[in-house]
Amino acid sequence: MWLKVLIFGVVAFLIYRFFMKKNKKVESSKKIDAIEMLQCDNCGVYMENKDAIKVESKNYCSNECKTKALKY
Ligand SMILES: [Zn+2]
Repeated sequence: MWLKVLIFGVVAFLIYRFFMKKNKKVESSKKIDAIEMLQCDNCGVYMENKDAIKVESKNYCSNECKTKALKY
């Protein structure tokens, strides 16, 4: 009898953890959506608005991308 209770407890714990993980993922993706994301004009990488290097009307993820893009 105790074995059934133990198995039930483990299964319930796993289901609980599964749903907790799902909820956390949904929360974090919502947070990412709230941040304004900009695409690097050179390599296409996405970065936060505050991390972007802005040159004229274009955005770059790093100084390397900025210099590469301006060369060509
Ligand atoms: Zn880049």
